[in-house]
Parts: sequence; C-alpha cells; structure tokens
Amino acid sequence: MTLSLHNVTKRFGSFTAVDQLSLQIPENQIFGFLGANGAGKTTTFRMILGLIDASEGHITWNNGAINYSKSHLIGYLPEERGLYPKLTVKDQLIYLGRLRGMNKSDIIKELDGWLERFNVPEYKNKKIEELSKGNQQKIQFISAVIHKPKLLILDEPFSGLDPVNVEVLKKAVINLKESGTSIVFSSHRMDHVEELCEHLCILHKGQPVVHGGLKDIKRSFGKKNVVVHADFDLNYLKDLPGVVTYKPSTEGCELQVESEQVAQDVFQALSGKGFVRTFDLEEPSLNDIFIEKVGDSYE
Ligand code: ATP
Repeated sequence: MTLSLHNVTKRFGSFTAVDQLSLQIPENQIFGFLGANGAGKTTTFRMILGLIDASEGHITWNNGAINYSKSHLIGYLPEERGLYPKLTVKDQLIYLGRLRGMNKSDIIKELDGWLERFNVPEYKNKKIEELSKGNQQKIQFISAVIHKPKLLILDEPFSGLDPVNVEVLKKAVINLKESGTSIVFSSHRMDHVEELCEHLCILHKGQPVVHGGLKDIKRSFGKKNVVVHADFDLNYLKDLPGVVTYKPSTEGCELQVESEQVAQDVFQALSGKGFVRTFDLEEPSLNDIFIEKVGDSYE
C-alpha cells in the first residue's frame, strides 16, 4: 500500500468538506475517486499533495509525507488548468520540466514522444492560447507526466474532451500504469471509473459511502440485473417476488432482482410462454450501486 489516508478530515470554518476519510490506495493501479460536485474530491487531492493541511488525521506515501522534496516523483493535473497562454508549448514544457528537475534535452525528447502519441506534433511551437481547450488539456496532461512520476493525481482528466480524445487519454493513463505509475483520478463519470479502475471510492458529502475493489463492491451489493429479449409481453415479470425494478426496452425488458435465486425464478416464469431470444444475468453497474447508496442527489 503506497498511499494511505487515516481518518482525514478537512473543515473550512464550520463546514466539513472531507469527513473521517480512511483509504488505502494500492501501488501500480488506477484508483477512481467518484462523487458529485462538492463531494470533496479536489479537497482530498490537495491534502494528499500537501497543498493544504488536513484539520485532522494524517496522510502517508511510502511511509512519509508528500512535500516539496518529492515533487519530482509526483504528477498532478489540477482541476483549474493553469498554463501560460503566451508561451509556446515547447517553452511551457521546458519551464515545467525544469521545475521537476529534468534537463532540457530529456524534456524535448519526452515532449516529442507525447505530441506524436497525441497526434499533435505540429503544436510544439504554437502558443498555448492558439490551441483549443481540449488540446490545451492534452498539453497540461503532458506537463503532469513528462517527468515519469511514481504517483499521478488527475483531477477530472477527461472533462471537456471529445470522445476520440477521451480514448487517447485513457490509453495514455493505462500505459502509464503498465510502466509502474500509481494513478488516482477523480470523475463524475461512473463508466470511466468502471472501465479503468480495480479499486475505487465513492465520496458523498465528504464521506466514503463505497470503498474497495470493484469486483468485491459489485459482488457484495447482492442485487443483479437480468436482461430479457422475447416476443411476448413481459409485463407480468414485475410482480414476481424479489423483482426490484422493471424497465421495458425495445426488445424486451431489464430487471433488477434481489439475488441470483430470483433470476432463476424469472427464468422459470418465462418458460412455456413463447420464444425467448436473450436471457442474461449481469452484475450491477456502478451507476446502480451509486443510485442506491447516494440516491438521486447525483447529477
Ligand atoms: P467538483 O466535482 O465540483 O470539483 P469536488 O468533489 O472536487 O467537487 P471540492 O472542491 O473538494 O469538491 O469541495 C468540497 C466542498 O468544500 C465544497 O462544498 C466546497 O465549496 C468546499 N470548499 C472547497 N475549498 C474551500 C475553501 N478553500 N474554502 C471554503 N470552502 C471550500
């Protein structure tokens, strides 16, 4: 366990932004931090990075605190993007890379590689202000990873990107993980967390409401989804005991059921009624879990 938070609380005046948060963030993995606006994600990141102090509790990384002496090992993509509009991409990256202790030729080599990978080699000598917002974000991402950090913290890395660039960035994040970087990222998007993370935490009003391995979280939730495609009216399924929700779909219906046993009951209730094209038992999605744990307050 490389990054640990023990009972971390942050108060701003009488308002508690993060409340008794304890987390173990495993090494060489991608850890997802989910939560609605104002849940406390950015505040937690700032405490991890030592930019603000916790009101209570403590945070350790490899048994020590994160401070300025470790900045060459840490990468951070802040939520409020902050590049100098008048600098060229190259000069901006040289400046930021030097702050991380790199020499100029290594910076240029890494930068060329990243611009190539992001399909934008022609941006090297362009001013930041000439780039679109999404492309500025790619440059900011490069500035967070150019020094090959051991721990990378990404605050909403995919926000504001078009679907193609979301995929490009996801791939980059996965490659970094494979080359030994531990990554923590925040998102409003549960599908991104579901796709990328083995471990995650859902924060709600500063408190962790779900925390652990994705597979364990899904298993322990208990409820399952059943998808049925059939040529006859399925409406009667919603009255079976243990069926929690019933949603008609164009080809049949989707059900949430209390357990696998109930799925078997549904299967039996279908027999002899007509042609069934699909019967599928699925794990709940993170979205299902979030809605149950946090309610409709999520947007
Ligand atoms: P978002 O998804 O909108 O970025 P978040 O989960 O990152 O939200 P935070 O930015 O951590 O949320 O904010 C958590 C709460 O703490 C919010 O209610 C915010 O208003 C409050 N807060 C954050 N920083 C300060 C501060 N410096 N002073 C007072 N309140 C603050």
